[in-house]
This record gives sequence, C-alpha cells and structure tokens, in this order.
Amino acid sequence: MKADGRNMTTRRGFLKDLAKLVPFAGLSLIGLKLGSLFAADEETGYLPEQHWYGMGIDVERCIGCGRCAEACKEENNVPRAPFFFRTWVERYIITVDGQVAVDSPNGGIDGFPPRGTLEKDILRTFYVPKLCNHCRRPPCVQVCPVGATFETRDGVVLVDESYCIGCRYCIQACPYGARYLHPEKRVADKCTFCYHRITKGLRPACVEVCPNSARIFGEVRNANTPLWRFTRTHELEVLKPHLRTEPKVYYNALDSEVH
Ligand code: SF4
Ligand code: SF4
Repeated sequence: MKADGRNMTTRRGFLKDLAKLVPFAGLSLIGLKLGSLFAADEETGYLPEQHWYGMGIDVERCIGCGRCAEACKEENNVPRAPFFFRTWVERYIITVDGQVAVDSPNGGIDGFPPRGTLEKDILRTFYVPKLCNHCRRPPCVQVCPVGATFETRDGVVLVDESYCIGCRYCIQACPYGARYLHPEKRVADKCTFCYHRITKGLRPACVEVCPNSARIFGEVRNANTPLWRFTRTHELEVLKPHLRTEPKVYYNALDSEVH
C-alpha cells in the first residue's frame, strides 16, 4: 500500500529521530526488512541462500551500442533525462602519446560521436559498461543511517524505498558513482541486478539485450553457470580494488586507465 505524502513525512521524521536516538537503529531496521524478505520466500519458493550473484563484463566483446543502458531505463523506469542511469557505457580513447579521453553521452544510449581530430593519433578505443558493483563490503550500506540500503542473502545490494529518507549519504559514499537521487521519488536509486527478474529465474534486462554477450550474469559459486565458467577462463579484475569494497562485477581486458 502506498503511503500518502503526509504519512510518509511523518514516517520519515520518525525514522530520522530513531536513527539519532537509538544506537544501531539502522541494524534493527535491517533485521525487520530481512524478516519481510523471509516471508516473501515462503510465498514464492525462492531460496536466496542458494544463490550468490555477480556479473562479468567482457570489454573485448562490448561494441558500445548502448542497448544495455536503454533496456535498463525501460525495464526499471529510470528517468529519461541524461543524468540518471542504473547502468551506462563509457568510451575510452587512448592516443599514441598516452592521453586518455573518456566520454559517455547519454550513457551511450544514442551511440558515440566520431572521434574527430583525434582519429589519426589513436592507439586504442574500447567501451566499458558500468553499474553498481554489488560490493561485498559496500560503503553505501555502512553509511545509511536508517538501514534503507542493505545486502540480500543472495549477494545483491538493494534500496528499500519505503525506508529511504533521501539524505544522499550513500550517493556520496559510493566510490563508483553508481547511485543517484530519483528526481520525483526523492530516494536513492541504482542497479538491482533486476532483482524482480532474477528471483524468477530470468536474466537482468541489460544481459538479455546485449547483442554480443559482453555481459554475463549468474552464480559466482555454481560451476554449472556461464559466469562461473567466465571467471575460470579469463583473467578478471574489479574496479578500484585498492578500496577493498570487494565488487562482484568482474571485468575482462580492463585497461589500467579505467577507474
Ligand atoms: Fe554500494 Fe556503490 Fe558498491 Fe553499489 S558500487 S554496492 S552503490 S558502494
Ligand atoms: Fe556493450 Fe552489450 Fe551494452 Fe552493447 S549491449 S554497449 S555490446 S554491453
């Protein structure tokens, strides 16, 4: 049931006060939320403890078509304005004299413009899809004062909109720029690995539409899945490993210039 504006304001005020007054209030709220997830499990038969999700990105296969970013907006009702993305594609241009140019016009949805005067000096051009890394040690979860951001037992970091007070702490804490404040709902928003799809056995929308299989979704620990095979047959890296956030998005052929 949707709360009306007045009730929501009251509830948010209550949560704010609770977070100030009660130590570890956020943890208590996480407990409540996990309790409701257990109830949902009984209804659908889905067992989160039997899964541990991640995504592989094969930079060598990405052609920069941007279909993934477009499909994500469609699937998840992400605002159309070119500032809001749950996933986007960056183009990297490395020139012979070592310069690096990065662009991502409208997240790659409309394609990329010609490389212009750089053309003759280009050493390498490649595309890097980005999204929330569903970190194993997520700073966004640590800073949330009301437990609205949390990690599920199947390894997905989610935002519970009904608890989010729009304080933006998580947006500032995410070192990957993976979150934004939804302009109408005034809550934090980001990739969910299409949680509503994967818990039904479907693949995330971005994976489904990729024409070149540059995105590989699945179980990190199950030997019978494409992602597990991908992790065993490629030398993979994660973004910003020095931050020790332990991302679960694994990249093949990641240039050292990508951050
Ligand atoms: Fe949180 Fe950012 Fe990590 Fe996603 S990438 S889990 S939003 S810190
Ligand atoms: Fe790259 Fe696939 Fe996205 Fe196209 S749909 S930009 S190939 S990841």
